[in-house]
Amino acid sequence: MSSDAVNPTAADRTSGRATDPTAGTPAGVPLPTDEVTDLCRELIRIDSSNFGDGSGPGEREAADYVVARLREVGLEPQVFESDPGRTSVVVRLEGTDSSRPGLVLHGHLDVVPARAEDWSVDPFGAELRDGMVWGRGAVDMKDMDAMILAVVRYMARTGQRPARDLVVAFFADEEAGGVKGAGHLVEHHPELFAGCTEAVSEVGGYSITVPGQEVADGAEAQRTYLVQTAEKGIAWLTLTARGRAGHGSVPTAENAVARMGAALAAIHAHDWPAETIESVRVLLEGVGEQAGIDWSVDDAPSLEQVVAQTGGASQFVAGTLRNTSNPTMVNGGYKHNVVPQTVTAGLDCRFLPGQQQHVLDTIAELAGEHVEVSVHHLGPALEAPFDAPLVDVMRSVLEAEDPGCRVLPYCLSGGTDNKHLAELGITGYGFAPLQLPADLEFAPMFHGVDERVPVSALEFGARVLHRFVLES
Ligand SMILES: [Zn+2]
Repeated sequence: MSSDAVNPTAADRTSGRATDPTAGTPAGVPLPTDEVTDLCRELIRIDSSNFGDGSGPGEREAADYVVARLREVGLEPQVFESDPGRTSVVVRLEGTDSSRPGLVLHGHLDVVPARAEDWSVDPFGAELRDGMVWGRGAVDMKDMDAMILAVVRYMARTGQRPARDLVVAFFADEEAGGVKGAGHLVEHHPELFAGCTEAVSEVGGYSITVPGQEVADGAEAQRTYLVQTAEKGIAWLTLTARGRAGHGSVPTAENAVARMGAALAAIHAHDWPAETIESVRVLLEGVGEQAGIDWSVDDAPSLEQVVAQTGGASQFVAGTLRNTSNPTMVNGGYKHNVVPQTVTAGLDCRFLPGQQQHVLDTIAELAGEHVEVSVHHLGPALEAPFDAPLVDVMRSVLEAEDPGCRVLPYCLSGGTDNKHLAELGITGYGFAPLQLPADLEFAPMFHGVDERVPVSALEFGARVLHRFVLES
């Protein structure tokens, strides 16, 4: 933490709400909260759909927008293209104490595609309705991109510096695994992240309201913020069943199609046991205590009950209780009367931290002796400590803006660009702070329809992120 005069100190915070880090802002300088909604809406209006096959518009237009907003305040971002139009932007801000390890603050510029006919608004219109910004990217993750931009712009305009060196990155291609964005930069320009030990990005830091916590003594509802401390690993596997090619009229025990069928049936029938890794256990203990639920990992109904109390996050949490293995593709054969020599299939496995080898071994065993298993793509599972100074800062800046709130860890069932940064030994967290209404179904909006974010949540996030950058 910095003791810089413009930065709030621990002493400031002991008396309830901390000193406002924007106090004394010179006239004419917009606050992060003044800009964040417009920045978010303008980013949403730039269609950066990522179809995963290179057919989309790419991220260049969104990157140009970000570069312009950074140059406007005197910053000098660097621009990188892995392929034409697949653009990432990086800018480094010097901290007040550059001897400390650096922090990466990152967002992605792409979004998943949206079918306009499924939405009740134009997904790229960024309409303001019911106090919310509607559109593709409103929560994943042009909201956080806008929060980062608003904070960095304010700091550049006022000369505020982060506590430690800050590498701000806007990556291309996260929605297709990040190969053309974070993956490209980590592989070809690792120097950009030199000296950085931690990273902060999406899908964490938002609030849930646990029943029982809702209203205490007629007071305002209390919220629990979930910091993402873990994410499941990805194993996309290819199965190859081998047999003996032959005439379709001849009986054979070496039929590759039947062998693949048996392997897939065995994999599909496998019952991965429920288990709670550290971050999930701490989350469910905290939520169970608040909601007054006795639960045990071995008692499925009680486990289901406590997961349901995680409100807007319950879909994410449900996906983190066990490993999964879903067959997703089958290919084989070319004629009714020809038994093919080989049949291939695709498998999407998601594994908990520490279980990569266990899942690979189990799949190989289930597949049987005639089906070979090879790895198409492997993304590591991550688990960062909840008991860490950086999380203490998250808790303290959330408390400054939402006194009485609680903070718990959780695991994300999907993956983020933190997987790429992990290759450089960088510990990643999800912390895109949003204060959400109790009844907003948050998790289903990711890649879903009618994605939207409350304006008040964006402004809250900008304030929290600003404090976080000054104090981390
Ligand atoms: Zn995302």
